Amino acid sequence: MNLSLIIFITLHLIRPSSSKIFHGDHDHQTTCLNPFLDHQNSSLQDHILKLANHVETAAWIKKIRREIHEHPELAFEEIHTSSIIRRELEKMSIRYQWPVAKTGVVARVGSGLPPFVALRADMDALPIQEMVEWEHKSKIDGKMHACGHDAHVAMLLGAAKILKQLENELQGTVLLIFQPAEEQGEGAKQMIKEGVLDKVEAIFGLHLVLSSDTGVVASRSGDFLAGCGFFRAVIHGKGGHAAIPQDSIDPILAVSATIISLQHIVSREADPLDMPVVSVTMVDGGTGLNAIPDSVSIAGTYRAVSKKSFYALAERIKEVIKTQASVYRCSATVDFEGPIVSPTVNDERIYEHVVKVSAMIVGKQNIEVAPPIMGSEDFAFYLEKIPGAFAFLGMRDEKKAIIHSPHSPYYAVHEDVLPTGSALHAAFAYTYLLKTSTSVCGS
Ligand SMILES: [Zn+2]
Ligand SMILES: [Zn+2]
Repeated sequence: MNLSLIIFITLHLIRPSSSKIFHGDHDHQTTCLNPFLDHQNSSLQDHILKLANHVETAAWIKKIRREIHEHPELAFEEIHTSSIIRRELEKMSIRYQWPVAKTGVVARVGSGLPPFVALRADMDALPIQEMVEWEHKSKIDGKMHACGHDAHVAMLLGAAKILKQLENELQGTVLLIFQPAEEQGEGAKQMIKEGVLDKVEAIFGLHLVLSSDTGVVASRSGDFLAGCGFFRAVIHGKGGHAAIPQDSIDPILAVSATIISLQHIVSREADPLDMPVVSVTMVDGGTGLNAIPDSVSIAGTYRAVSKKSFYALAERIKEVIKTQASVYRCSATVDFEGPIVSPTVNDERIYEHVVKVSAMIVGKQNIEVAPPIMGSEDFAFYLEKIPGAFAFLGMRDEKKAIIHSPHSPYYAVHEDVLPTGSALHAAFAYTYLLKTSTSVCGS
């Protein structure tokens, strides 16, 4: 089988319904982003896709993903993972900074001059025992890449390879951010603290998902992923004999009423379209059948997609616990503890750019508007600092049984989609820099 035939088949296996885009068809209704995008998008897509789907590159991306998958590392322990990243960057003669935020790596491709645009991948695994039996199963007991971050790293390295081959054409500099500790909600914060976003104008991140079919790009403008917070409270009463309740102040009764009242924040106060969540997940108090305890602890989580609802929830949780405790003559202390991840809010302008560029890569028919999602992502912290957008790349494939949700011990990645992810990253950065340097239309 000759090389071009292999490439052709590979491309069509990855995106069976997107053949239109390979033949240079594009949306003539699309608003002009810049002269290049308007007139030469077919050559751009062909160029970047050919580089991403080159047989050797596609095989290399898959190999890297498998190597990382076999050696999963938890938050801020990604020493081996970052050594693989550095090894591959060195092979490509791409300069990088390390360590950033303990284990993170920040590589640079381009002119070294502004404008700067960033692409981000997360590196950490989860404390989950892999149940998938395959050749490259996790070699570390109790740890697994069950959220696809191994694939995210491989896709970003693929983008680095593509961008390196186009380096002379880049109208600025691309930062490739390999970030630790997403699952803990701390990695992005730490990277930002160490200055990775200094001078960066825009950022893009991708997450593989099972909610969309293979090769589909899904995202939305504005509120996208929920913010996530945790609370802990101690309700203090006065312990005593259960047969003489009048001599005690019963914190169990206070907690019972508090838990019910907390549910009313969502059912009676919040806008149903905001879809907030308040869940009490822990109650701890009392030791004897005939004793009223001194205090009872409760803890739980709250989520909301809009920033306004998210921060309002925290305020009301505190108020309801304290007030409800006082009704029962108790007092309460309420603490909010990390990791607290803000809602992920995509910038409208960058989102539009992502949609246009992604349509060139996967075909307009493979672009979806995602619904708001209650899951959280610490990519939100980058978006609080600079404009950017987060997007999903679908990989659901019923025939291959790639259907298990992230954080499942049966989670599997559809590896054929990896070059598409690399192409999306590379195309976003390439065209963003071009747009910034030559824009005549604005957006
Ligand atoms: Zn995850
Ligand atoms: Zn994840």
